[in-house]
Amino acid sequence: MQTQRPFSLLCELTYRCPLQCPYCSNPLDFARRAHELSTPEWKRALTEAAALGVVQAHFSGGEPLLRPDATEIIRHAHDLELYTNLSTGGTLLTETLAGQLRAAGLDSLQVSIQDADAENSDRMAGGAPSFAKKIEAARLAKAAGLSLTLNVVLQRQNIGRMEAIIALAEQLGAERLELANTQFNGWALKNRAALLPTRAQVQDAARLARAARERLKGRMEILYVLPDYFEPFPKACLHGWGRVFMAVAPDGTALPCQTAREIRGLTFDNVRERSLQKIWFESEAFCKFRGTDWLPEPCRSCSRKEADFGGCRCQAFLLTGEAAATDPACSLAPRHDLVDRALAETEAATEAQLIYRTANASLRISEAGQPIGSIGSRRRQTPKLPGPRE
Ligand code: SF4
Ligand code: SF4
Repeated sequence: MQTQRPFSLLCELTYRCPLQCPYCSNPLDFARRAHELSTPEWKRALTEAAALGVVQAHFSGGEPLLRPDATEIIRHAHDLELYTNLSTGGTLLTETLAGQLRAAGLDSLQVSIQDADAENSDRMAGGAPSFAKKIEAARLAKAAGLSLTLNVVLQRQNIGRMEAIIALAEQLGAERLELANTQFNGWALKNRAALLPTRAQVQDAARLARAARERLKGRMEILYVLPDYFEPFPKACLHGWGRVFMAVAPDGTALPCQTAREIRGLTFDNVRERSLQKIWFESEAFCKFRGTDWLPEPCRSCSRKEADFGGCRCQAFLLTGEAAATDPACSLAPRHDLVDRALAETEAATEAQLIYRTANASLRISEAGQPIGSIGSRRRQTPKLPGPRE
């Protein structure tokens, strides 16, 4: 099999963040991974990525704007002729910074909000007021002439407000609205019992997204993808492991997917020690699940194997303890019962207290060790969301 070159690089500039979203894609043990790449190290990684064939660089975190050199790193990517996109929680964006980002050549800015309802948005971001700052950030981005994407992670607490979310994106003049259903890895998996929507909620949301897409054609692009817990077959995670995408974590660890570090037993290389070229073509982590040769049954004999490559490796590992298992989200998977059970619990209105993404929670979880495949929930007493807790 000929290995193709990567197309897209995600640069997670830092895991530091003023917010505490309980579905954050950062690793559960983020608080133990503080040794961030320096400015020259990021520039070198980007130069290597461009030489390798990467054409898009996405900058995220944590909150990437906590790095005072974020603009300088983005300018370097722009000078390498990469398409650049920055994802921010929005709370730190100022008029000056928006202008500097525009001058550095940033192609697109993505601001995340947690909900169209200010109170719930603040609660989901950890409790401190942030909604108003996010709305202001979206306005500043537009005023600076940046192309604006509004990103909303959908989960049980906000999916019922799709119409208000779409109206808000229209009001802000967003070019793109990304309605991202929660991926149940890491923090989101810990909080699955509180975040997983019901089937009826997901179907309603899909209907509203379709109608809005039709109505706003040519004015605003709307991205809504059905969550894989509700589909018969999984999606090819990031178009296939080690196929077109690579991520570099704040400490320089190169990953086939930003959550791949959750898979125990895999060794990941660091851009401080090896070039991205060598990592992409030769490292254990990138080669292990590339292509279809490694697939187990029933994937090996399945006609969809070139389309989805057996689904998500992180999900397979986190739910079954086996990274090479068929993704349990697939209806043909031997352990699909794990997903069926989670969905049945949601339909029976289960609720759990949210665990917010705080440094204290991260240290506590990483000290205790992360259990695999045993996600607890308890009966709902009240639909009210609990506040953040350490
Ligand atoms: S998901 Fe929330 S907590 Fe995580 S990096 Fe983004 S804004 Fe910060
Ligand atoms: S059996 Fe494997 S290849 Fe077939 S649809 Fe399910 S995950 Fe995809």
